Amino acid sequence: MTAPALPEGTILGYPRIGRRRELKRAVESHWAGALSEADLEATTADLRRATRERLAELGLGRTDSSIPESFSYYDQVLDVTATVGALPARFTRLRDSDGSVPLSAYFTAARGEGDDAPLEMTKWFDTNYHYLVPEIGPETRFALTSDRFARQVAEARADGFVTRPVVVGPVTFLALAKATDAAPAGFAPTSRLDDLLPVYVELLASLKAAGAEWVQLDEPALVSESVDVDPAALAALAERAYAVLGGAGDRPSILVTAGYAQLSPEAWQVLAAAPVEALAIDLGRGALPAAVPGLESKTLVGGVIDGRNIWRGDLEAAWQKLEALKGLGAASVVAGTTTSLQHVPHDVADEPALDERLVSWLAFADQKVGQIAVLARGLAEGRDAIADDLAAATAALEDRRSAPGVRVDAVRARTGALTDADFSRGDYAERAAAQDAALHLPALPTTTIGSFPQTGDIRRARARHAKGELTTAEYDGFLRDEIAAVITLQEDLGLDVLVHGEPERNDMVQYFAENLDGFAVTQNGWVQSYGSRATRPSILWGDVSRPAPITVAWAEYAQSLTAKPVKGMLTGPVTILAWSFVRDDQPLGETANQVALALRDEIGDLEQAGIAIIQVDEPALRELLPLKKADQPAYLDWSVGSFRLATAGAETATQVHTHLCYSEFAVVIDAIAALDADVTSIEAARSRGDVIDDISASGFSHGIGPGVYDIHSPRIPSVEEVTELLERAVKAIPTRQIWVNPDCGLKTRGYAETKASLRNLVAATVAVREEV
Ligand code: GLN
Ligand code: ZN
Repeated sequence: MTAPALPEGTILGYPRIGRRRELKRAVESHWAGALSEADLEATTADLRRATRERLAELGLGRTDSSIPESFSYYDQVLDVTATVGALPARFTRLRDSDGSVPLSAYFTAARGEGDDAPLEMTKWFDTNYHYLVPEIGPETRFALTSDRFARQVAEARADGFVTRPVVVGPVTFLALAKATDAAPAGFAPTSRLDDLLPVYVELLASLKAAGAEWVQLDEPALVSESVDVDPAALAALAERAYAVLGGAGDRPSILVTAGYAQLSPEAWQVLAAAPVEALAIDLGRGALPAAVPGLESKTLVGGVIDGRNIWRGDLEAAWQKLEALKGLGAASVVAGTTTSLQHVPHDVADEPALDERLVSWLAFADQKVGQIAVLARGLAEGRDAIADDLAAATAALEDRRSAPGVRVDAVRARTGALTDADFSRGDYAERAAAQDAALHLPALPTTTIGSFPQTGDIRRARARHAKGELTTAEYDGFLRDEIAAVITLQEDLGLDVLVHGEPERNDMVQYFAENLDGFAVTQNGWVQSYGSRATRPSILWGDVSRPAPITVAWAEYAQSLTAKPVKGMLTGPVTILAWSFVRDDQPLGETANQVALALRDEIGDLEQAGIAIIQVDEPALRELLPLKKADQPAYLDWSVGSFRLATAGAETATQVHTHLCYSEFAVVIDAIAALDADVTSIEAARSRGDVIDDISASGFSHGIGPGVYDIHSPRIPSVEEVTELLERAVKAIPTRQIWVNPDCGLKTRGYAETKASLRNLVAATVAVREEV
């Protein structure tokens, strides 16, 4: 293989949602029937073109394979599923007569159709991106069923670009897959590796034919301890895979990447010895690996610019890492990002409203590409050539360190003075007795998770208020009417513990970010979370404090309308951190405690206002769990600690609830117990109540609300099915512990199904109450 060398700088991937979410708009209007497939193709081709041009403008080479071809219509894992013949059997009928997968089938696999459920969605490593889980069984027939990768290479070629297609590698693809329903018990998708590899060989040949000189195969599974395959087995799979792919006669040069954490030593050794031309490793999260045999013939892409945070960061340190990497004896060293840049927004220049000083500390995707271009120049011309750039980055870092708001003495004095007692609420039995006496709730109390439908009316009113078309007084009046309607509805339905419905919140994290000091919010800082969906994480840049009460007026108003208890509703510190871009200049635990103290004050104010039940949502507790097992205890320590700090100031008689969105109860039971909330609601309906057995087996002794129906679809649960779940629960768990609630908040639902579903929930509860 005589490969054209990779140039001195590259990125592992670029955001694909578009600077103004063009992809979202195009894809969603195509789904709605308003944009033809041809027009969608044209729009996305423009988007890809704009990306290549932009990357060239920012300093990557047009024809040297440094520009990644990393576009996806929906998801990079689904792209492979559709390409290697692995569309599940229920979608086979949607293929073209020659077996190839048209875009319509691709989207249907992502979104489902009628009774054909879409592919399951789950988190991509420890990011907020979600991929579609491939379903692989012994019956899966691998074959090249899409030429999209090759077509995009050719499209670039036609415009004078030589780009580097980015494809999820075969080991990661199978390691992330789950077994099909048809597979026998114990079947492992990775057992199909040898059958899959010939299709990758064919794919590589097609990419070469289309004009690719390099291909990037992403193998993040090799860093992870979260996939269900142990590191030694993964390394063995990688050895086999890359012996075959590297040995293929007709292929582009291969760059294997392993971002998101440090490669296992086994995988590092195997890849160094594999017959591929280049390896990319994450030097942001990982230490410098050892010199191992095989490197002398390889190009090493040092992931030194963070693909996941939005900080300009320490360019000098990045340079030093590249220098150290040179010491491993590789044929050449290239400056790279730690991961794809798909996890950060496009461009700081799109944020005119952000404080200028803050802006000077930031790097979104385009600024990161600029940093790569600087480091590449350094590698090519020597350090002197970039000395000014390094100095400017260092100066920005120093400016950030000393800027007002980054360190606030009053905040630090408070966190510095914390003692163990601040993290503890005291005896649960005593609390339970005080709460029973205060609340007089029936057995199996019914409630909801917090939000009620965010209707078009609510969204429009919010937008009009933001534009100044509604005065704040008018908007507040609108929200009050909305709250009053939600309270009346809940009383009519006969629910026991009410909520105000959260109409004032655009987003459960951004709402708090907007009302706390230390945060900034962006206008265009969108990051793809899955498919056409994007979120706009806030930027937590300074010490966090609460200038004024945030939720109290709404809760107080809602409570004034009813004799039933209304839950105060807060987002917990871990979730606020997980769904924001957080500062990188201090341990997360320290930042979490600052947020926790702000919430603690809010809880105190809610109590003063007469709120007897307060829910602190932590749906991201599981999400942030580190990939490396060795890092998990420390994480659980600070994350659980911050929740406890937020809630431990509550009175004995105040009932603290928490909500977690998932049902992997068994995985996090110790953490859930350690949160020490009085009541915890979790997902249970999608797993058809299996979680009830886990709860029972765990001996969990506080209040627990296993969600009795799935809010992710408009389907209305019948009284019978809710009854069945409740009967199962009362058999397995002491009745006094059980709460009855949906799986999650109702904000994405419509009112028709919400009313009908909650009516059935209450009817089932009333029936089961008579039996216990
Ligand atoms: N209280 C929030 C709601 O009901 C919780 C959302 C969540 O768990 N993601 O919307
Ligand atoms: Zn939830």
